[in-house]
Amino acid sequence: MFAIDEAHCISQWGHEFRPEYRKLSVLRSIFPNVPIIALTATATKRVRKDIVNQLSFKENNSYTTSFDRPNLKYYIKPKVQVYAQLLEFINSKQGESGIIYCFSRKQVDELTESLKVDGFKALPYHAGLSSDERESNQEKFIRDDVDIIIATTAFGMGINKPDVRYVIHYDLPQSIEQYYQQTGRAGRDGLVSDCILFFGYGDKAKIEYFILQMEDESEVEVARFQLRMLLNFAESSVCRRHALLEYFDEKYSKGNCKACDNCIDPLKDFDGTELAQKVLSCVYKLDQRFGVTHTAKILTGSKSKKIKELAHDELSTYKIITDINVRDLQLYIKELIQQGYLLLSQDKYPVLRLSQKASLVLKGGEQVVLHKIRQQMTLKRDLLDGEVDTNLFDRLRVIRKKIADREDVPPYLIFQDSSLKEMAQYFPQKRIEFKRIKGVGQKKFDDYGKDFIKEIKLYCEENDVRSVPIPIKQKRTRGISRSATIDETASLFYKGLSPEEIVENRGIKVFTVISHLEKAYLGGEDIDIFKLVPKDKQKKILDACKKIGKQKLAPIKEFLGDNYSYNEIRLMRASLLRKD
Ligand code: ZN
Repeated sequence: MFAIDEAHCISQWGHEFRPEYRKLSVLRSIFPNVPIIALTATATKRVRKDIVNQLSFKENNSYTTSFDRPNLKYYIKPKVQVYAQLLEFINSKQGESGIIYCFSRKQVDELTESLKVDGFKALPYHAGLSSDERESNQEKFIRDDVDIIIATTAFGMGINKPDVRYVIHYDLPQSIEQYYQQTGRAGRDGLVSDCILFFGYGDKAKIEYFILQMEDESEVEVARFQLRMLLNFAESSVCRRHALLEYFDEKYSKGNCKACDNCIDPLKDFDGTELAQKVLSCVYKLDQRFGVTHTAKILTGSKSKKIKELAHDELSTYKIITDINVRDLQLYIKELIQQGYLLLSQDKYPVLRLSQKASLVLKGGEQVVLHKIRQQMTLKRDLLDGEVDTNLFDRLRVIRKKIADREDVPPYLIFQDSSLKEMAQYFPQKRIEFKRIKGVGQKKFDDYGKDFIKEIKLYCEENDVRSVPIPIKQKRTRGISRSATIDETASLFYKGLSPEEIVENRGIKVFTVISHLEKAYLGGEDIDIFKLVPKDKQKKILDACKKIGKQKLAPIKEFLGDNYSYNEIRLMRASLLRKD
């Protein structure tokens, strides 16, 4: 008797692993009279048939239990301001265990770093780590020493933890099997758990690129099929549970499952005939030679360089849709594809083509029913990913111009537009946040940070806007620089962590934490150092510093005696140094 390892079956009983599995068939000839049972966790009908054939079962006694996991809730959310959405969600799950899947190791590392800085206990898990590190991270997760494990979607994890309360796909998985298996790590204790998939079309392109790297043609075919099924699943407006079970050839007969986004918050219908006609005639005017994004941009009146160059702003369909933003319009175009009014070519750069059904709509002979796009999570001012608050952007340009004139240099030498745009997107009001903006190095921060932060603060007060969390982009800080590690400590302190908790979170010594806080404070951060020293000691230390001089700590310590620690003296001394 043998069991087929779960992880292998997920990666497909098939192409990659077929040689090994084929060898298993020798068991038949070695032990002709021994009964054999084959076990698998997630396999479609096709794969199950393959198993039966390869192991030459004479009698096909297949037993399939239900694929339904009633305690799992499924949500698919648009991939916009995804880091902010993630923080909002995991903030509501403080202290609970969760797994987050990302596409690449680099993304895993970056996201882990961002979450740590934002005060979460998170560790990475991917094939780039040594097996010792992986084992140790896994162990910490199982023992609840960390709350969040961030892993690559490609990497199978041997974690069997019953109380994982949520599984988040920060990026698109590669197949429904993979999605099902990974979400299946949630709620093994039977309690309600959440599965969230952030879905954006950028991910589709990433996976397609990944597929292009494959050499085996049948492998490519399988991967393309899997991607297509996954996209259908993500774009669909039917019950997620229903769709998942259907994929595994199981019927869900209960109707509304009450535990997926499409059942909890069903998409509402509307008459989309006029919208469809506008889109279809634009595709026609473009000779069916352009893709979804470009078409949506023309219809919504984008001023992009490409549109100008191609004179597409002269088309009669330019800017004929003004009440829908470009992102939502792209989703509606996708729905028109799903409903068969448009076709998307299978080229490297897919273009939109009109189907036969389209001509009926254009002639006014068919009504088109579309589904209203679901509101995203409440985010600051409903800005889209990459969308910039143009009012703030303009005000920051004025500040930049003033400084540039004063220094007699061109404005771009102060900050490039791309930096101002990030500022007008994330509204950084704290020094730490501001330093995460692209193009803000220490020198520029020292020279101009204050002026820009002041303007952003003012703008935020006037308009009741809060900062949007900025994920860390690791490529900008190769390794952790001295100032980055100080920032990280200060950031945790702002989150309300005590020095002892920071020690635990960061795995550094108390002395290091205190010296970081001291440096941050001296660098102008709003660290409340008086909170860290008992009230009755403060004045004594300050007096001692004045009496003995504040250059060296040792003489002050000697003077004050054993009741006073170096850390306390260091912090009090900083308050005097900052005054200087
Ligand atoms: Zn449902």
